[in-house]
Amino acid sequence: MSSLSSTSRLLMGNWKMNGSLASNQALVNALLQGLGSTGSHQIVLCAPYVYLAQLQSLLADTPVQWGAQDVSVHESGAYTGEVSAAMLKDMGCQWVLVGHSERRQYFGETDALIAQKVQQVLQHQMRPVLCIGETQAQHDAGQTEQVLAHQLKAVLALGAAQLSSLVIAYEPVWAIGSGRSASPQYAQQVHEFIRQQLQQAGCQDIPLLYGGSVNGANASDLFAQPAIDGALVGGASLKADEFLRIVAA
Ligand code: PEP
Repeated sequence: MSSLSSTSRLLMGNWKMNGSLASNQALVNALLQGLGSTGSHQIVLCAPYVYLAQLQSLLADTPVQWGAQDVSVHESGAYTGEVSAAMLKDMGCQWVLVGHSERRQYFGETDALIAQKVQQVLQHQMRPVLCIGETQAQHDAGQTEQVLAHQLKAVLALGAAQLSSLVIAYEPVWAIGSGRSASPQYAQQVHEFIRQQLQQAGCQDIPLLYGGSVNGANASDLFAQPAIDGALVGGASLKADEFLRIVAA
């Protein structure tokens, strides 16, 4: 178990490339109305860059925080289309997803690049959420632990002193958007492996989230596992009712 207490959870919504000004406003209003107080839970919504200003305004003076889904590896300069960590920080951003499997798969992000992005986020005093996970083929070949150890290596090499604000999200690629979540037992077993790797690197307090088809029906069984500190939720975070069921779990 990490520094999060056994009753507090970190619940993050990843909207991916979805939303509009109108639908975001309706979703956030419904969430805020349904949430009342978040208790000891931390809730974070990660939106596309263009909607971060909207979240900054909608979530001001609420217990819900917001974050970005990616960041540039570069500090500033001639990198057309990129958004730097300094810019996110300037906007009041506190959280940044890094190395989501869709960034790895469709945009060729490597472990080395992802570690540099984590470093950018840390240098600008925001919290990086490093996403790791095996593909179906790697799972079937029995390579899960090897793949995860490799994905963790470049980031852990930054050193425990630097990584105190890191969060890790274990997201088996075969479970993302598939409607087929990992079983709570499997997720627990893999989280235990990740925790061991973190311990060896002196980073035992890093919170570990599970992600991959989390919904209102499976959340409580997943959260009952002692090594699971919360969830990174994709599809279900776009539906207020479903996300509220996850929070209630
Ligand atoms: C994700 O995008 O990080 C994710 C876990 O998606 P989903 O919940 O839709 O599987």
